[in-house]
Amino acid sequence: MGDSLENLRHELEVSRHALAEAEERYARLNAEGLAAADEFENARKQIERVKQEWMAALDVVEAPIFLHDRDFHVLRCNRAYQQCAGLPYSEIIGRRYFEVFPKTHAPLRNCLQSLEKKIEAGHEEEVEFGDQVFRSRAYTVNDELGAYLYSVHILEDVTERRQAAEALAANEKKFRELVESLSDWVWEVDEQGRYTYCSPRVKDMLGYDPEELLGKSPFDLMPSAEAAKVRDIFASHIAARKPLKCLENTNRHKNGHLLVLETSGTPIFDADGKFKGYRGIDRDITDRKRLEQELEYQAHTDVLTGLHNRRHFFELAEQELARSKRYGKQLSLLMLDVDQFKILNDTYGHHVGDLVLQKLSQICAQTLREIDIAGRIGGEEFAILLPETRSDHAQEVAERLRVAIAGATVPQESGGFPVQFTVSIGVTSLVAADTQIDEMLRRADVALYVAKEAGRNRVCTEEVA
Ligand code: GH3
Ligand code: MG
Ligand code: MG
Repeated sequence: MGDSLENLRHELEVSRHALAEAEERYARLNAEGLAAADEFENARKQIERVKQEWMAALDVVEAPIFLHDRDFHVLRCNRAYQQCAGLPYSEIIGRRYFEVFPKTHAPLRNCLQSLEKKIEAGHEEEVEFGDQVFRSRAYTVNDELGAYLYSVHILEDVTERRQAAEALAANEKKFRELVESLSDWVWEVDEQGRYTYCSPRVKDMLGYDPEELLGKSPFDLMPSAEAAKVRDIFASHIAARKPLKCLENTNRHKNGHLLVLETSGTPIFDADGKFKGYRGIDRDITDRKRLEQELEYQAHTDVLTGLHNRRHFFELAEQELARSKRYGKQLSLLMLDVDQFKILNDTYGHHVGDLVLQKLSQICAQTLREIDIAGRIGGEEFAILLPETRSDHAQEVAERLRVAIAGATVPQESGGFPVQFTVSIGVTSLVAADTQIDEMLRRADVALYVAKEAGRNRVCTEEVA
């Protein structure tokens, strides 16, 4: 009995000890469990915070964005998506995304439906619906082992952007057509003056395809002397970034003939204000120049003889007088009149008289120097200005002319003897007191009168004392 009680007490002691150990272990485990739960809770909160931050970021984006699973069920979506759908978040999540949009929002619904089968990594496309255009981008997200997790889908209404791009393209087309329909050649050069654009019109104008000219400079198309001359004029404009206004330049067509172009252009600058070259037009003014020259020639020239007419002779003579006085050069003047021209006309007819005037003019042109200025200043009166010529030399020239004319003949219409004719010439030279050509002409006229009085077919000089 005593033994069994002792055994019982021992067992009780062992049990109490085991209980104490168990309580201690329990307390320890309980403490560890609580710490783990805390850690878990903290991690959960952190994940939640990150999620909220990301959702907040997505909500700021104006384009609808949503995540969906393989079967197109919406997993998450941003505020723009909810607004498009017209539904709260809770009523969207879990539904198939193309069912979310009400029929009234047909464009988006249609857009999404058309994409249903196409969504894959990096898929991007624009979907039109009526007047609206949506750009859709979808990305597939996989885990680190490559298993599919979900897809991210972004929708953007690009209607306005598309309209702007179309308007721009239409404008560009309009301008290109305008540029190409111009009879002028439109070009662009870079800051080095090399063509970066040439409109097709250049083919008609200069014979080159636009591509042949890219990289070339305008001076490559000019004869070398012209290029040297024009280069300086262009360079001064370009250095000052000044517009080019109707600058004339002679160019060589691909087949060799010359043509005159008129170049106008304005400098171009990039968004930072950096000089990028010039843009402008070249106009073919060859015909206009030819016409101008023709009109100028007609305005300046006596039709019968081809010599300067009276008005032009006076213009040139005044310039020459001023130049001679400025540089202290000699200048002489001859006044020439056909002898008994009235009788010649009356005897042989007016036509023969005309031939005489033409013959006389030819002899003048052959006898005189390039710098001498001969004009028909009356019916059968001619004035000849001899720059840089002393009085005695002028008399020699006059005498040479007189002799040449006296030796010339013109044929008669009736086939009779060729007709001879003579001239009288008055000579004078520039003196310091002369200020106008009239003064020299008056003296030459006096000398001419003296020659006539002295019997004609002779040269007389009117010297100023
Ligand atoms: P002089 O020796 O004194 O100069 O006598 P002239 O007969 O030459 O002088 P006058 O001034 O009397 O005559 C000039 C003539 O020139 C009169 C006119 O009919 C003629 N005449 C003027 N212009 C032309 C022309 O274009 N063609 C022809 N054939 N005759 C002209
Ligand atoms: Mg006369
Ligand atoms: Mg006469």
